[in-house]
Amino acid sequence: MRLWLARAAGAAILVAAVLVSWNWSVEKPPFAREAMFYEKFPGAKVRCGNCPRRCLIAPGRRGFCGVRQNAGGKLYLIAYGKPCAMGLEPIEKAPFFHFIPGSRRLVIATVGCSLRCRFCQNWNISQAAFEDVPHYEMPPERVVAEALKAKADSICFTFTEPVVYYEYMYDIAKLAHAQGLKTAMVSSGYINPAPLKELLKVLDAVKIDLKGFTDQFYGEMAAADLRPVLDTIKAVKASGRWLEIVNLVIPGKNDDPKEIERMCRWLKDNVGPDVPIHFTRFFPSYRLTSVAPTPVGTLAKAYAIAKAAGLRYVYVGNVPGDPLENTVCPKCGKTVIERQGYTIAANRLKNGRCPYCSARLEGLWR
Ligand code: SF4
Repeated sequence: MRLWLARAAGAAILVAAVLVSWNWSVEKPPFAREAMFYEKFPGAKVRCGNCPRRCLIAPGRRGFCGVRQNAGGKLYLIAYGKPCAMGLEPIEKAPFFHFIPGSRRLVIATVGCSLRCRFCQNWNISQAAFEDVPHYEMPPERVVAEALKAKADSICFTFTEPVVYYEYMYDIAKLAHAQGLKTAMVSSGYINPAPLKELLKVLDAVKIDLKGFTDQFYGEMAAADLRPVLDTIKAVKASGRWLEIVNLVIPGKNDDPKEIERMCRWLKDNVGPDVPIHFTRFFPSYRLTSVAPTPVGTLAKAYAIAKAAGLRYVYVGNVPGDPLENTVCPKCGKTVIERQGYTIAANRLKNGRCPYCSARLEGLWR
């Protein structure tokens, strides 16, 4: 009898343990939303289709970015409706210089990233575990309502990698458009073609962080590949959405003039001379604290290389007050937008045209 009782108790404990682990892997995580792009595999595994990593995720586990979880053979975004950062900022801070200049954007981000940039400026939220960072409870309807209340002109997905919280971004952007707000994404461009195509239906502008122009740089500094980023840049341009490029110039890592020249020539040949490019100044951060800030002269050199390669709208960034932050008419050479840091000191454009020579400047003006 005692032996039977012991066996029964043992079996009950085993069943309870199985049920606990079963519930953990079967139940939809609270407030999560099912992913839009994934495939199911035997053994209740799933493959995420959002970014080129294409993580194969076992039940109960999460993908590389830490916010997409397999629960019972379905893939969920657990950060849905849970942003860790929100605020109101000038659009110039993105930086977007040809997308409604002088406007205010509601910025939003959740935890998580699909890259591992050693120089990340937002590593405390991009590289953190979801549970370690406090977040708001903010369904898409409330985000849009907050943007309207704050009289923002746009909602901008930024700071971390928006591709990893794709469904949240997508739902917000769709609602925002219905309410007359513009939408923009600041991204590394590490996204697969199918989700990108769908996303571009609900975005007005995209800024791609082109981190360097060699596979070696992408591999060593970001644990990623260059090719998918270039494909994204071409696809955004082909979609007709407004596109700007930023390149953080890091001394000794991606500041070789030949590399910068190849990058600028590629941009001109593949997306045309009118795509704005911002060369921004690096400051030591995260795992790259031993590298000194970018000399301002290096940025001026990059500017000259880009102009010589035929790009019409070239800027330097993170150097407040530098005249290379101004927009110059590519036809007559006169300054049409003056900037002081994130502030527009003067905007002389008239319906997107130069007031001096009437040339049309490319961009999404107000
Ligand atoms: S979005 Fe996240 S889970 Fe999906 S493939 Fe990329 S890193 Fe993996």
